[in-house]
Amino acid sequence: MTACFPGGRPGAWSFALSQERMIMNDHRRLGRELGIFGTDPLIGSGLPYWLPAGAAVRKAVEDYVHELERRTGYQHVNSPVLGKRELYERSGHWAHYAADMFPPMEVGGEEFVLRPSLCPHHALIYRSRGRSRRDLPLRVAELGGMYRSEPSGVLGGLSRVRAIQLNDGHVFCAPGQAAAEVSAALDLIEAAHARLGIGAARYRLSLGGEGAKFVADPAMWARAEEVLRGVLRERGRPFDEERGEGAFYGPKIDIQIADPAGRESTLSTVQVDYFQPARFDLRYAGGERPGERPVMVHRSVVGGIERLVAHLVEVHGGAFPAWMAPVQAVVLPLSDAELPAAAALLRQCLEAGLRAELAPADRGSLGARIRAHRLVPYQLVVGPREVASGRAAVRLRDGGQAGAVPIEQLAAQSRPFV
Ligand SMILES: [Zn+2]
Repeated sequence: MTACFPGGRPGAWSFALSQERMIMNDHRRLGRELGIFGTDPLIGSGLPYWLPAGAAVRKAVEDYVHELERRTGYQHVNSPVLGKRELYERSGHWAHYAADMFPPMEVGGEEFVLRPSLCPHHALIYRSRGRSRRDLPLRVAELGGMYRSEPSGVLGGLSRVRAIQLNDGHVFCAPGQAAAEVSAALDLIEAAHARLGIGAARYRLSLGGEGAKFVADPAMWARAEEVLRGVLRERGRPFDEERGEGAFYGPKIDIQIADPAGRESTLSTVQVDYFQPARFDLRYAGGERPGERPVMVHRSVVGGIERLVAHLVEVHGGAFPAWMAPVQAVVLPLSDAELPAAAALLRQCLEAGLRAELAPADRGSLGARIRAHRLVPYQLVVGPREVASGRAAVRLRDGGQAGAVPIEQLAAQSRPFV
């Protein structure tokens, strides 16, 4: 599944170039250099921890997606990262997906499982009160943990992990609303990708297949496929259809990304599901027939946060857009004489909401300190002139000069929604 060389065998030159890009921007190497994440054999394979720079990028991205969802009518919930084995028997995971799940743990005579997805919890939240046609579409979102018992051979960096923080959401809607909700989810995904600087490798319509991995109900699959295919065609974006790549309960639109080596993986997804609403006996009043079932549209705008940040590191090569940069502004006093003014400016930056730090003159020449902070979007140089005027000269990381920009303005232009 390599998207790297679609035209056949590459020439030596393009091969060398792609090799170089692969080494330059591999998120595992950059992740270490930039202090994004680390691993320890004592914690275990596929269980990375986040270092301060990575935690800052992650928080910025999570806040952005949360806000994007809030603006488009989602209600956020929180639910536990595990549930009773019976929950996953009911959802169908136990019959179709057990190979990817961690084994159950026995506590107090009951068996609990680390959850393989958030869908069952959200179905129960839907069912927790009576719903009526006018409540629909009900859009529920959560950034929550899920777990996958990947074999150790396939684990790597942040892109294949065993503990995933998933940006998930489920839209419970009337059957006639499903196509519009799928399209709205694709709008959301495309808006987020544009803001994050992500270019999709391709769109894939992932269909079911034969065998125990998929629920056997041809009519149900055909109905869901028709909704997804219809939306993709209407939007006019090219897509490939692939059998055997769907979820066990239904087909999905997968938005594929590629790493610098051309290896593809799925980032965002939209799925139409008639199976789990039936398994959890979800209903609403006031429909065309009494006790009608909603459709579940599963969607993830940016997928798992681990894979997303791995991809962002590779796409931006560490030079993140200002709104997601781990450090947005560095204050650089020319000499020790400007240190008090620089410290005051740092406080001003922090209070304005910027992620900022101070690089005092004892860390080397101004040139050396600028080089050490070359990925920081705003470099605030404080010399005698700036002390006198009470402002800082803003240097951009590409070497451009922005002049004396007020800190409030810098903070405003460092937010994802301007
Ligand atoms: Zn789901």
